[in-house]
This record gives sequence, structure tokens and C-alpha cells, in this order.
Amino acid sequence: MKEIIAKTALIAPAVPPLYLSARFVRGRQRAEAVWQASQYPKLGDIGQVKHLSILPLIDWYTADPELEGEPGVSYLIRADDRTILFDLGLNRRQEHPSPLLRNMARLGVSFDEIDMIFISHAHLDHIGGRRNMAEGVFAPSAGYVNLRQMPAYVPTPLVNPTATPIVLEGPTVLAPGVASMGPIPRQLFFLGWTLEQSLAIHVEGKGIVVIVGCGHPTLQKILARQAMLFDAPLYGIIGGLHYPVTGSRSVRHGIPRQQVFGTGLWPWQRISQTDVHRAIALLYARDPQVVALSPHDSCDWSLAAFRTAFGKKYRDILVGRAIEI
Ligand SMILES: [Zn+2]
Ligand SMILES: [Zn+2]
Repeated sequence: MKEIIAKTALIAPAVPPLYLSARFVRGRQRAEAVWQASQYPKLGDIGQVKHLSILPLIDWYTADPELEGEPGVSYLIRADDRTILFDLGLNRRQEHPSPLLRNMARLGVSFDEIDMIFISHAHLDHIGGRRNMAEGVFAPSAGYVNLRQMPAYVPTPLVNPTATPIVLEGPTVLAPGVASMGPIPRQLFFLGWTLEQSLAIHVEGKGIVVIVGCGHPTLQKILARQAMLFDAPLYGIIGGLHYPVTGSRSVRHGIPRQQVFGTGLWPWQRISQTDVHRAIALLYARDPQVVALSPHDSCDWSLAAFRTAFGKKYRDILVGRAIEI
């Protein structure tokens, strides 16, 4: 009995107040309506890049014990002569220099070589922390970093005094061969209305490589949007798809965060092994040649399921080890 009471106390914060439930039901309907209405023409010839590499600067696992991992995302994307910083990590302790800055220093990466910032969505693990999320700010560290007024492509209004934020409302070409696939909405129970955009890069002779932040819109919709925008095939998909099945990367106040937050389900529902097998089947049918699942919001069981399904085509996402396309 004692144990039951203790367990109830643990899940008590997840018992939904009525307004959250009403907001969730309304938001889910709205997200579906927006999705149905978002019919975009093909982006046409966006150009191509010859070389693409994705260097994880922040994620859960690292290639080297000298580097720091955290349940967040920041990837350095080199597409020919264009360098894009995709998301800004979690910076859980709001430090300066942040884990992102410390990893960049260890890997010899400087802001001077970065041409643009791309923010997938405005959650704390992608814009540099809880305080930023509350204040509508994106920042690579808790102290001053000069971003030289570089463009920062964001899916919702966010600010940083040293960058030039540009809100993208739909699919947009950002540089030759590089495009945002445009925000796709999802209503999340606690985190609310969430617009997330993925990055698409057309690699010459290969196809489209999609880089995803958290995967809140669902793999189904991300793949559908890729097919809607491009004639070229899906060559690769790299990043977060949010499949925490057997565990969460962070547990706070007894709540397994990734399994409760960000799933798009009711708080008492969980993403299942069947959901993951369905996602794998869907992706498999598109025959991607490179698949890399971010461990920041998926559990080891899901990583292993993807690894088994895609074999040699599967790449581990490790901070400090570039994925070369
Ligand atoms: Zn998220
Ligand atoms: Zn995330």
C-alpha cells in the first residue's frame, strides 16, 4: 500500500488539470487542420552540394571521454563551403562557457567559421536551456558570445542580441542545396503548441539528407513533407525522432522526462515498441542509405532496434565524430 501511495505521489504532477486537457484536445485538432492545409508545391531545383558532413557538438553519447554529453542537440553541418550550426544544446546548469562552447573548443570549432544558425524548435534542449525557453531567447552559452549578426532561421519568434533571427513560416531555400522543410505543428500536453522545422540538404548524385531536432511532428509527417517538397529521393535521416520506450535520459522529481514530455500523447500514455517497429517499417520503405537516431530523446532499446533494422546504413551519433555523407 505504501508503495502504491508513493507511486501515486510520483505521477501526481502528471495528473492533468482540466485546462491542460482542453488545450491538448483543441491543439491536436488545430495541428491536424494546419497539417492538412499545408500543401506546398515542390521546391524545384534548390541546387546541390558535393560534400556534406555532420559533426555532433552536443548529444547524449560522446566519441571521447574528454567531450561532454547532455540530453540536447547541437550539430555542426558543413555543406560545401557553407557551415550551419543546427541547434544550441541544453546547457542544463546554465554555465558559461557552456558544454557546447567547451566541446567546440576541444574540437577546434570556432564561431568565426559558422555562417548561419538553424533552430529546429524552441525547446530548452535545443536553444540553450530552461531560462532561454522561458524568455524566448536562443543562446549557445549563459554568457556573452558574439554571433556577428549572422542569420538565425527560427520556426517561432526568438531573439538573440548578436544574431539576426528570421522566422520561417514555410519551406525556404537558405543556400544552394540547403532548405528548411518549414515548420510542422504538434500539440504537446505540457509543452503546448510546438512548431518544429527540419533541414534538408540535397547532396549531388545521392539525394536529400534530412536533419531533425526532436522529431515532435512525427517521422510520418516529416517523411511526407520531404516527399511533398522534393523529387529527389530521401538519402539519409539524421537526428532526434523521440522514441523513448524503455527509459528516459533524464528523470526529475520521479518523472521520466522524455517518456512523459514531448511525446504528443496523454501523460499516462507511452510510446511503445510497436510504434518504433512501425516507424522503422515506414522508413525502411523509403530505402535511406544513412540513418542515425539521436540518443538525446530516444532510449537505447530504440537505438538498437534502428541499428538492427538498418545494419551498415546505421550510424551512431557521437559528439566529436563527424558523419560524412
Ligand atoms: Zn523538443
Ligand atoms: Zn530534443
